[in-house]
Amino acid sequence: MQISNNKVVSFHYTLTNDAGETIDSSSGSSPMVYLHGAENIIPGLESALDGKGAGDALKVTIEPADAYGEYNAALTEVVPAEMFQGVEKIEVGMQFQAQASEGVQVVRIAGVDGDKVTVDGNHPLAGERLHFDVAIEEVRDASEQELEHGHVHSGEECCG
Ligand code: ZN
Repeated sequence: MQISNNKVVSFHYTLTNDAGETIDSSSGSSPMVYLHGAENIIPGLESALDGKGAGDALKVTIEPADAYGEYNAALTEVVPAEMFQGVEKIEVGMQFQAQASEGVQVVRIAGVDGDKVTVDGNHPLAGERLHFDVAIEEVRDASEQELEHGHVHSGEECCG
């Protein structure tokens, strides 16, 4: 069965950056499972998988625009440390959920300078060219319920 819209795809992957460092990998755990054509995964990877089948292996390089977007400096902001009441020690790399006009947004602490804290709303992989090493495990038809919900159900029960 070939990968096309409305198929459920399982694959193992290793993700590395331009420097060759491993950022993420499914090795040793369950494969990644997604619904093809439902924008469950980044667009560059979804289009690279299109038409492939179970047992196929591929290496894909994805430019930032087709991955997590270009880095946008306008998404950084310097805020007073007192905004983080209840946090014992604010450290670079910590993540917080912030209420933004478009809904809940995850921001990362990018810098701490005395009582001035720089928060960054970019995805941690924004601006990065990504290298995926992919091995496709399984391709199956999605159930009607999965298509209705736009995502994969792993067990018998609906996710609600
Ligand atoms: Zn569901």
